[in-house]
Formats: sequence, C-alpha cells, structure tokens
Amino acid sequence: MARYTGAVCRLCRREGMKLYLKGDRCYSDKCAFVTKQMAPGQHGTSRKKVSEYGTQLREKQKVKRIYGVNEKQFRIYYAKAARRGGVTGENLLQLLERRLDNVVYRLGMASSRVDARQLVRHGHFTVDGKKVNIPSFLVKEGNVIEIKEGSRKSPKFETIAAAIAHRTPPSWLELDKDNLVGRVAAMPKREDVDLPINEQLIVELYSR
Ligand code: SF4
Repeated sequence: MARYTGAVCRLCRREGMKLYLKGDRCYSDKCAFVTKQMAPGQHGTSRKKVSEYGTQLREKQKVKRIYGVNEKQFRIYYAKAARRGGVTGENLLQLLERRLDNVVYRLGMASSRVDARQLVRHGHFTVDGKKVNIPSFLVKEGNVIEIKEGSRKSPKFETIAAAIAHRTPPSWLELDKDNLVGRVAAMPKREDVDLPINEQLIVELYSR
C-alpha cells in the first residue's frame, strides 16, 4: 500500500487528536486541528455512532499515522510483536518506538517524525559510527546515534542544535546536548510511550 501523500492535517482531524506531524506548526495557533475542529469531508460535522470494530480500526489507523508506517509494515510489526513473549500490544509499541526515525525525533534531532524520516533517508545520521539511511532500522540497547560530521554545519542542524537545549528525551534515551549524541540506554517500556494509545484495541482488531 502506498504511503499517504495528502494533506497531513486532515489525518489529525480524522483521528480527533493532534498527531504532531508538522513539527513547529503543530504547537502554533495555525494548527488545523485547532482552527477546524471537525472531521474532514462533507459530513465532518455530523455525529455518527461508532461500532466496536470502527473504534478498533480508528485506533490502529491512529498509531499507523503517528509512526508514519503503511498497512503492510504495520502488519509485519504486529506479527513480530505477536510472536514475542509477553504482552502483544506493548511489544508492538516497543517495536515502533525503536524505529530510527522515531528515535531521532524523540532525541529532538528533528521537528517531527516526518522530518526525522526524511533526514534519516538523506543519510544525516550514524548508528555506532556507521551511516544508516533506513528509517525503519530498529535500534538496540547501547546503540549510539549521531549526526554525521559533514551534516553538522548545515543551517538545518544548527537550528536543531539551538532547539535541542530545551528538549528532554524519554528516560530510555540519553542525550549529550553539547555534542548532539544520543544513546539507547534501555529498551522502551510501555510507560515511556506518552501517547494516548489503547493498544489493546489493536490486538482485539487483529484477533477477530
Ligand atoms: Fe496535526 Fe500538526 Fe496539522 Fe495540527 S498542525 S493538525 S497537530 S499535523
């Protein structure tokens, strides 16, 4: 399934919450979720009763959109999560959190996950000293994530370096703000995912 290329603010309005897909704009009063508080489309203002299936489906769509993965990738993550021991929903969120684009965003080295994905694709980051340009690369405990030496002087990363001073990464990531180096201190736990997600609804959807 192709990646969604339409207006991303529609996705927030569809899911009824801010998904923070546009970086700084999401924190400004230009945010479309604030200015147009209704679902997109002709029937956006009508209230419909949502079925149990509909609620489960929306939860899955919401998580896919937050992490920017398509349907096929999401199914693969779910299958991996289900094969692992423990709680499937938590395993799923852990896998998504470990994506390199998410880690770059969580470290404050990009303004959004969309921005992070593009920066990773363009080869601006190294993991343990080696260039990695695959946004879905899964980090492991102990991995060191750095901005590539040649990219540090670009205006983009100079802006990021200024903004990063005000960022606090989640507890499973360590950040050396002076040298712009991140480290995976531990695997993410459920409580590290500070997003309003009910992953159990996704498990119920796939268990149908
Ligand atoms: Fe969503 Fe950001 Fe657009 Fe607001 S500005 S609707 S949070 S993507």
